[in-house]
Amino acid sequence: MKNFQTIQLCIFLSLLGACASSPLNRRQVVLYSDAEMAQQGVSAYRQMQSELPQTSNLRETRYAQCVANYVVAALNEDQRGSSAWEVTVFDNEQANAFALPGGKIGVYNGLFSVAQNQHQLAAVMAHEVGHVLANHGNERASQSVLRDVGVAAAQIFGVSDTNLQVLDAGTQLGLFLPFNRIQESEADSIGVILMAEAGFDPQESITLWQNMSVDGGPRPAELLSTHPSPNSRMAELRSLMGAANALRQSANAKGLNPDCLP
Ligand SMILES: [Zn+2]
Repeated sequence: MKNFQTIQLCIFLSLLGACASSPLNRRQVVLYSDAEMAQQGVSAYRQMQSELPQTSNLRETRYAQCVANYVVAALNEDQRGSSAWEVTVFDNEQANAFALPGGKIGVYNGLFSVAQNQHQLAAVMAHEVGHVLANHGNERASQSVLRDVGVAAAQIFGVSDTNLQVLDAGTQLGLFLPFNRIQESEADSIGVILMAEAGFDPQESITLWQNMSVDGGPRPAELLSTHPSPNSRMAELRSLMGAANALRQSANAKGLNPDCLP
């Protein structure tokens, strides 16, 4: 959605409390409450756990849990929310991962051949958590509602019967639609800072995207096709490296020295 339209929409939606700012101060249209998003996230996660095969390799589970523990520990109280954060390793050859509102992280074990050490795995997880912190699922779901209906927001709220159905479908869709480039850049920026605050080496985020761009395996939408090009994302990450390195050093000095073994 163009920025001009976003601003117009915000003027109207602000009456409903539907406009917010991302952690990087970009205006967002969000129609759902945090509680609604968390509820959707948890229920989608439970459905995936019951329908998709999980790894039977305990080492993989322990490894992912170890990295997740450090990443989650670096969240402040607000970011962590009231949910119990969980990580599940799915048995799937894709090099992929996701995080859902409500504190749910999923890792596909195909990722372990691309994210080659704990720092690189932390880079992916922190990127995914970055999407959640920036409310990107909410934004996507809200945008797909507005797009589906294809009329001004005022009209949407005038149509009371279809309203709920559309909102419901939009929420479902919003959780797994591809993110756009702006959202990807935000998740990269939030992620590299978060992994550094957790004590991981932020430089490894650049190596990760290098590995990702040469890996010949299946290319997941979330980690490649809709993302910025590997070169532009690495350039953006490099520009944050000074700040990230300083945060990592102070995390290490405070005793945060992750030691998760694959
Ligand atoms: Zn992403």
